[in-house]
Order: sequence, then structure tokens, then C-alpha cells
Amino acid sequence: MRMAVYDVLIVGGGIAGLYAALQFPKDVQILLLTKGEAGISGSALAQGGIAAVLEHDDDSYELHFADTMTAGGNKNNPSAVEQLIREGPAAVRDIIRLGVDFDAEENGALQKTLEGGHSRRRIMHRRDQTGAEIIRALWERVREKANITIQEYTVLCKLAALPDGFSAQTVNTKFQQSGSFCAGFVILATGGIGQAYRYTTNPAISTGDGIRIASTLGAKIKNLHYVQFHPTAMPPRQDERSCFLVSEAVRGEGACLLNRDGERFMQSYDERLELAPRDVISRAIIKESRRLGGDTRFYLDITHKGSAWLEKRFPAIFAACSGRGLDMGRESVPVFPCQHYLMGGIDVDLDGKTTVPRLYAAGECAHTGLHGANRLASNSLPEALVWGRHAALNIMRCIRSGYAMPRGAERDGERCEPVDRTASAILPSLIDEIRALLQESCFVFADKQAIPAALARVEEIRKKLDACPDAGNPELCEVKSIAFAAKMILEGHRDEPEAV
Ligand SMILES: Cc1cc2nc3c(=O)[nH]c(=O)nc-3n(C[C@H](O)[C@H](O)[C@H](O)COP(=O)(O)OP(=O)(O)OC[C@H]3O[C@@H](n4cnc5c(N)ncnc54)[C@H](O)[C@@H]3O)c2cc1C
Repeated sequence: MRMAVYDVLIVGGGIAGLYAALQFPKDVQILLLTKGEAGISGSALAQGGIAAVLEHDDDSYELHFADTMTAGGNKNNPSAVEQLIREGPAAVRDIIRLGVDFDAEENGALQKTLEGGHSRRRIMHRRDQTGAEIIRALWERVREKANITIQEYTVLCKLAALPDGFSAQTVNTKFQQSGSFCAGFVILATGGIGQAYRYTTNPAISTGDGIRIASTLGAKIKNLHYVQFHPTAMPPRQDERSCFLVSEAVRGEGACLLNRDGERFMQSYDERLELAPRDVISRAIIKESRRLGGDTRFYLDITHKGSAWLEKRFPAIFAACSGRGLDMGRESVPVFPCQHYLMGGIDVDLDGKTTVPRLYAAGECAHTGLHGANRLASNSLPEALVWGRHAALNIMRCIRSGYAMPRGAERDGERCEPVDRTASAILPSLIDEIRALLQESCFVFADKQAIPAALARVEEIRKKLDACPDAGNPELCEVKSIAFAAKMILEGHRDEPEAV
């Protein structure tokens, strides 16, 4: 069979993949894949904003550096932090040039909000739909580029190394067709692993496929147990899979956390109160819950701002509360921690290079070391921009310096087998089981005693999945990715000294 040939394959249409795609000159042929509809990504859900020091009168790179290191428990890679802080501001200005419309004061100055762990107001936003606005603008620019071929509903299932790049196997889930092509370089920008958990803010696409695929090629995967739990999410409704996030910016604008008795409690746990970093607040909620005999009723209260102000500043959150019969201007909002973000991932250097030649990663699937053990709020959108750009620039240097590239519009490839879905029937119960195991053993405080049994069961499930007929079944690929992430998270906690 004949395979199409591209210079660069970008897997992912979130902020990392889109911004990387826009860095390439027009003579470089790009194929950009998204698993579902273009607009569905973790990026599109980002609420609070994007952090960068744009002005130095009241803020500085040093302060942003210190805040990032403190939130990360000083487990961050200082070179990565330095790169983000120095290059983030130019990236933010660049996306404004590309059409992103952040909220501004009447005099045109950008509005800046505050979030937990930040010592200054340095977070640019578009109300509480910052991600959707960034993604709108970047997709518009990407669609204008003749050198970028977009394939939506196309799941990357496998990558294999070739002397001059990679061959890739995909399945188009709209037309149930498998496909095959090759590319000289690959950027994985597949996002997080939230779907491995029972409760997550992440969308359905966040199954960690890129991480598993990189691992099968021998790439180093690092710190997958560095998982962030957001303290303030609303539980999903019956028809929903994901929890609805109540942005940290709500606390930045003065919201208090209350226990079931309507009492503030953060003063018992951290002097930064509701503006402590996320891991600190999530742990405080769990400790307070234990103090109250396991009661999980917690609330976020911002009623002092009133409904009109809240509806204007946080329209999506206000609407989500209204949809649950709540007026957040008059009542406090029920919240509890849930899985939110992955700090670990495919290990990359400052150029986004993995340990496999020609394979790059950017965004949430990558481990840059920037976040340490806990991400500072609003640092992941700028990270995706900075590393997406570096990956693209590094690939361009390789191409221009004469790396061997797959040539011609097509080349011979292996026959594509028809999609075999016989395994699909057993998958839902296996996913549910993995999610329950992770939820119980690796939530805010990992349960060290439960981990060996959970790991043994996940290994059994992985063997079962490996034995299934695997001709590009996209659901099977996803469950394998979830199971791989679960194994890595469990192993990481097993080997980590216990948190206090
Ligand atoms: C509710 C919520 C709120 C957030 N708020 C903020 C915030 O305010 N500020 C901040 O900095 N961060 C925030 N984050 C985190 C941030 O949004 C993400 O970390 C970041 O957007 C991830 O971008 P990405 O490009 O790496 O991945 P994503 O945006 O998740 O995109 C992943 C892409 O990969 C594609 N893909 C995945 N697997 C495959 C496959 N096998 N084949 C083909 N395509 C595939 C998907 O279709 C998708 O297009 C938030 C996250 C969530 C969930």
C-alpha cells in the first residue's frame, strides 16, 4: 500500500500542538491530528488564565521564578523555570498578535488576576474562558496555512521508528478507517492523563496516548506520579464524565473555603489561607474532612461579590452553577478536590527533545521539570507555548542542516488492517476498575498500603489488554494508555517516600 509522506507529524490540536505548527515555514509539510473534533482539548477548558510578567513596575522575573519554585516544592528544574519566565512574556505577546483577545481595562491595559501561589497579579485572562479564546485564535491561524494538513477524529495508535523518521498508524473514528503515513519528525502534544481517574476536570481525550506511544519507542517517562489535584471542582452531573472546575481565580478574587459547618478552616493549615498553592489546599481539605469524621461537604463562598459582578467576571462558572440550580452570588458552591493536571510525562530537554531521536513532546504530555511536584496556577498554558516553539525551531534546525528526510509524496508501507473492535465489549469495565483503583490508592494522599495490590491488578489488566486483537482499535489504544499511566503512577508512589 502507498503511504502519504510529511516532514513533521504533530499529534494534538491543543495549545502546544497548534502553536508548534504555526512556527514552521511554508515549505515544511505538516500533518496535524486531533483525536476528536478540533475544538475539544484540555486547552479549550482552561479558565483562569496565562501567567507571565509583562511589566516590571510591581513584578519581576525573580518573583515569578520564586513563586514557581515554591509551588513545586523546589523539585523543579531551575533551567526550565528560567526558560518559561524569560520567554513566556514574548509568547503571550505573540498570541495577542495572532488574534487572542484578553480582557483589558478601559485604557487598553491588560487586566491581570491573582491565583493561589502567585505573589503578584500577573495572570492574563479572557473572563473565565481563557483557553477557549486562545484555541479559537490559534485554530483560525492554523487553518489559514496551506502547508498544514488537518485530520480531525484521527487517533494515532502506533508509531514505529524508521531510519529517516517514523511510520504512523491511525484510525479515523468518523469513517472507521485505518490509515498509515510517515514523517521525518514527530511532536507529541497529546495532553494529560485525567481519564485514568474516576474524578477529573480533564476532557475525554485526556487518556495519555502520547505518553504510552513514546514509551513503546523507548522514550524516558518521568514522574508520572506527580499528579495535581485541584481543590475546587464541582462533582459531575449524571450525564457528565468530568468534574466542572471552579477556577482558582475565584479565590484570587476573594472567595473563602468553608467546611460543612460554614466555618473557614484554612487558617488551621497554612498562613496563605485560600491563596496557598493547590496541593496545600487539597491536602488541607482532606485533613479537615478527616477531622470531621470523613465528611466531604466543602464549599466555596464568594457571595460578597454579588450575582451581577460574578456573572460578568466568571460567566461560564456562573452558568455552570445556575445549571445546577445555584446562584453563586447568593449561595456557596459545593466543591471537593479532583484530578486536574499531570506534572510528569515524556521527559524532554529545553528544546522539547525526548530521549528518542526525532521525537519531541510539548504541553501537558511532556515532563520539562518546570512544575516540580506541583504546578503553579496558569503556568501550563505558557509552558505549552514556549516548549511548542522550541520543539519546532529545533526540528527546523535539523531539517536545514540536512537530516535525511522521507521524500516524495508517497512511499510503500505496510498493509493497513481493517479495524478490529472485538475487544471493545470488555473495555468499559476495565476502565472503571482502573479508575477506582487510582482514585482509592493515589488520590491527594497516596495510600501506600493499597498500592501493591492495585499495581498487581493493573498488571493483570495490562496483560489482558495485550492479549486482545489489536488492529488499530482506538478504544483499546486508549485503555492501554490509561492502564500504562496507572502503572507508572502506582510505581512512582510505591517508590516515593511518604508525604506528610
Ligand atoms: C478545566 C481545566 C482548566 C484549566 N485551566 C488552566 C488555566 O487557567 N491556566 C493554565 O495555564 N492551565 C490550565 N489548565 C491546564 C491546561 O489547560 C492544559 O495543561 C493545557 O492546555 C494542555 O495543552 P496541550 O496542548 O498539552 O493538550 P490538550 O489541550 O489537552 O490537547 C491535546 C490534543 O491531543 C489530541 N490527542 C490526544 N491523543 C491523541 C491521539 N492518540 N491521536 C490524535 N490526537 C490525540 C487531542 O485530540 C487534543 O487535540 C486547565 C485544564 C483544565 C482541564
